[in-house]
Amino acid sequence: MIRKDLLPKLLSKATPFYFYDTALLRQTVEEIKRESSKYGYHVHYALKANTHDAVVKEIVSAGFGADCVSGNEVSYAKKMGIPSKKIAFAGVGKTDREILTALKAGIFSFNCESIPEIEVINELAMQEGMIAPIAIRINPDVDPETHEYITTGLKDNKFGINHWDFDLVAQKLKSLSNIELTGIHFHVGSQITNMGVFEQLSLKINKIASWFKENDFHLHHINVGGGLGINYDAPIQEPVADFKSYFKAFHDHIILEEGQQLHFELGRSVVAQCGHLISQVLYVKKGLETQFMILDAGMTELIRPALYGAHHEISVLTSDLPKEKYDVVGPVCESSDVFSKGIMLPKAQRGDIIAIHSSGAYGQTMASSYNMRDLVKGYTTEEL
Ligand SMILES: *Cc1c(COP(=O)(O)O)cnc(C)c1O
Repeated sequence: MIRKDLLPKLLSKATPFYFYDTALLRQTVEEIKRESSKYGYHVHYALKANTHDAVVKEIVSAGFGADCVSGNEVSYAKKMGIPSKKIAFAGVGKTDREILTALKAGIFSFNCESIPEIEVINELAMQEGMIAPIAIRINPDVDPETHEYITTGLKDNKFGINHWDFDLVAQKLKSLSNIELTGIHFHVGSQITNMGVFEQLSLKINKIASWFKENDFHLHHINVGGGLGINYDAPIQEPVADFKSYFKAFHDHIILEEGQQLHFELGRSVVAQCGHLISQVLYVKKGLETQFMILDAGMTELIRPALYGAHHEISVLTSDLPKEKYDVVGPVCESSDVFSKGIMLPKAQRGDIIAIHSSGAYGQTMASSYNMRDLVKGYTTEEL
């Protein structure tokens, strides 16, 4: 949780802002390193979760690669000192410009999501006189048992290539001169907390990998994507995700060929719990049944509750009065701009400071300026 001695510093900053607890981030990164290195696995950090420079620096210093979903993320990864050979680039709609950016950077892998995309990469690589390393993103039809908006690996999702297209893809790959198939890639969804899903995924991957072997493709690596969930309900009790069980689920079920690498792309589980959205109570307004706690932060700073009905724990940092019932809402002109309904919090008044926990992932990176609001700052512990 937020250390008491940091309170004066937090109170001296203009709200709203994101606070990133460096100690917890370090602890998390160390845990990932320890558990993944047991098996010699390769970890890429999914940049879209959080691109606050100081946060990314901390992750880069642990030696992780990057998982990018745009050309700008590829350029940013390079700028932050991530070696090209550790950069993977996914996404269903890569533009020619983005592909060229990544080709020139000499990235580890284009994770390709359709046949037309593979053709375009081949063409651009030919134009540049290069061979593009590609992995095909496969839709394994595994249900991640998570919110439908963050489900990506079912057969009706826009992501990935389905098994009934494998023959067609194989023919294509053999006919194109400027690409080289180096691996297969998967990413079935986000905020997955049932380890059984990763077991199911591993078993599907074993079948798919043997298909490639039978069809004379040598796969240098298998990339299983990310998706490990965190405990939004108990950020204090469980500040670090269960990386031990996560990596072990793959180790126990996936069959690798001699020398074949296993890659991971973790986003949320790396950064979510270290971040808090700090906000100020503007007004307490009595409703009929409830009272509204109106904050100066809203869906523009943290859209997850409005977008996915996501739950975030909330604390009042400046009050320990007896608890009352509140609907905690933002100032944006949308009825969905609600952080939490009917929750018990210490009695608060105008000026009290609130922390919305588990906001380190998909918070600041999904911010918008809707209602012409200002984009707000983020600070790590050292930057406060
Ligand atoms: C978003 C994304 C990830 C990271 O997902 P998390 O659930 O945050 O771990 C990994 N790989 C790809 C391709 C992604 O799009």
